[in-house]
Amino acid sequence: MMDVHYKFRAVKRTATKSGKCPGCGKRYRLQRTFEQTINPYNRLPDGTPKSMEDIVRELTAECIAWRDRPEYCGACRELREQMKAMGWTSDWPTFCAKVESIFGPIEGLLETAPEVYLHMVVAHGFSEYSHVLLLDYKDQVKLRAAFDEWYTAAELAPALREEGWDAFLAD
Ligand SMILES: [Zn+2]
Repeated sequence: MMDVHYKFRAVKRTATKSGKCPGCGKRYRLQRTFEQTINPYNRLPDGTPKSMEDIVRELTAECIAWRDRPEYCGACRELREQMKAMGWTSDWPTFCAKVESIFGPIEGLLETAPEVYLHMVVAHGFSEYSHVLLLDYKDQVKLRAAFDEWYTAAELAPALREEGWDAFLAD
């Protein structure tokens, strides 16, 4: 009996990207190689073994997704992990679920206790959002633009936008 060793052919694609850390603005230049081998066990979801073309297509997609994703620096990544550990989130549905578990439905809060709505929903909501995304608090113009974008996306009460911004600043 003889041992047979197969050497599978590796297919590689290397991507590079450069940019600024979205948190602190520190510049980076990174390179990463994505790899898969052509082998009988590397299959498509339908069960057929991947061809060279299949693998190249997947690797190219991975390279593009990686290249287009901004990269936080080590310090900012750590800060974000700490905020996550505290339960802070930039995800609106997650934030709502957290508030509603304490105060009940947000629309109800708007009707019965608008000052709580301004503080707990608007001020804290944007506070968590802006901290988790490490938005720059020194740049008030950009921060206000981010607030408007966030406010609109969250479909918060249009009439309370200015009061909400003031509540956030006061918080
Ligand atoms: Zn950074």
